[in-house]
Amino acid sequence: MPIISTRELVKTYSLGEVEVRALRGVSIDIESGEFLSVIGPSGSGKSTFMHILGCLDRPTSGQYVLEGKDVSKLSKNELAVIRNRQIGFVFQGFNLLTRTSALDNVELPLLYGGNGMKTAERRQRAQEALKEVGLADRANHHPNQMSGGQQQRVAIARALINEPSIVLADEPTGNLDSRTSVEVMDIFQALNTDRGITILLITHEQAIAEYGSRIVGFRDGRIVADNQTKARRIARDEMAALPLDVDVEPANQPSVTTTIGA
Ligand code: ADP
Ligand code: MG
Repeated sequence: MPIISTRELVKTYSLGEVEVRALRGVSIDIESGEFLSVIGPSGSGKSTFMHILGCLDRPTSGQYVLEGKDVSKLSKNELAVIRNRQIGFVFQGFNLLTRTSALDNVELPLLYGGNGMKTAERRQRAQEALKEVGLADRANHHPNQMSGGQQQRVAIARALINEPSIVLADEPTGNLDSRTSVEVMDIFQALNTDRGITILLITHEQAIAEYGSRIVGFRDGRIVADNQTKARRIARDEMAALPLDVDVEPANQPSVTTTIGA
């Protein structure tokens, strides 16, 4: 049984008189443990597709079966419960609370889970998630004291905190330089191969898509290509050869902006 199965998903946005047909009949089966890259030009419906798969939005028509359960017609509250338990999200802009520590950011989803966890247990879980992304020593830093790559790793830790079976990532390397992008892709590959998490990653860059084991192409709200590939593996020496991430540590920089020409 596929972990995700859609049939003829259609999503139409109404903007007054105008109708935008963002998805025009998307049918796909995704097996548990796949690392699927979705690639396509801007406006082709990738994010809309991810929002529906992530139970953030509902299709206008069509069927969506998630882990054997038809979720196409569930209420918003029912979708929220499923989302919180089964799905982790990573976004291009990190979506972190900037005035809160990395640890608090990672812990946040546990507060909404209704899991009855005690404070100490939540802290412990968040600390472990940060360790998993290599940021154990940055737990008390705020996002604005971290480089883009570090912020994205905090976001990944947050996505993992509820132990989801699926991680959905929308252009997660869109704001990162090439070396940091590779480091982030390395984390996604490890989550997939070591922990068996199903990954669906959206990108408009072919080189990033190639880290997946299956590449699905979107155009005008439809799937136009679907290929199994040999996932490009990240070699340590390949990473070392890339230009170094300008690992800005704004914490060590003066916070006062200099007025030029004053
Ligand atoms: P992509 O992620 O591939 O760039 P999107 O799924 O964001 O594409 O958008 C697909 C189409 O749907 C675009 O034409 C976009 O303008 C439109 N669209 C997306 N979200 C909305 C919305 N909330 N309201 C109206 N139109 C939208
Ligand atoms: Mg998008």
